Amino acid sequence: MMLRLLVVEDDPAIRAMLQSTLVVEGFEVRTAVSVSEARALLRHAAPDVVLLDLGLPDGDGLDLLRELRREQAIPVLVVSARHQETEKVKLLDAGADDYLTKPFSVGELLARIRVAMRHRGTALSPARTAYDSGTLHVDLAGRMVAVKGQPVHLTPTEFALLARLVRSAGQVVTHRQLLADVWGPEFVDHTHYLRLYMGQLRAKIEERPAEPRHLLTETGVGYRLAAA
Ligand code: CA
Repeated sequence: MMLRLLVVEDDPAIRAMLQSTLVVEGFEVRTAVSVSEARALLRHAAPDVVLLDLGLPDGDGLDLLRELRREQAIPVLVVSARHQETEKVKLLDAGADDYLTKPFSVGELLARIRVAMRHRGTALSPARTAYDSGTLHVDLAGRMVAVKGQPVHLTPTEFALLARLVRSAGQVVTHRQLLADVWGPEFVDHTHYLRLYMGQLRAKIEERPAEPRHLLTETGVGYRLAAA
């Protein structure tokens, strides 16, 4: 099946680059240059993934994202020149699957599209319960964690935090989402909990905790468990 991509981008050079690259990679690509055009294509072209720019001539991509999320679960990757951390958090909380800051490499873009698709592909089947990177093995059902075959003992909170990241492996989970899901909605501002427990988890799981390869920091935004 050929995947249909909708590229919403008003910059002609970036739009042309994305279109030619993605067509070569085997995607069927439609493009929109404005919020209103994107709205029409979303209704009539039924894309599988949306690449969304934020600054559009007739509106803000963020508003389109919120509108879209009220109706559809389609993966949305925000591709933007904006890079304030608060903006990223707002986007992820509004329902973006991921974001890429311009300039980005094509390899990175394709990897993020693959992760978003895989994530959505499994969203309808039972929730993800295992993670295996080759060195780190996590079995949520059996509550087993092992590094290079050696079992690792985690406290209940450490396990809950790792489990939340396993369920979204490859994707950024914001600080607020992690705090709400692991500690509860009243703890969403307690980011120091996260720093503390992430430090403990890294000490147990990472070969070099100061240079983590699994539990990655998205500065100012959240954490990402590297895609296995
Ligand atoms: Ca723009």
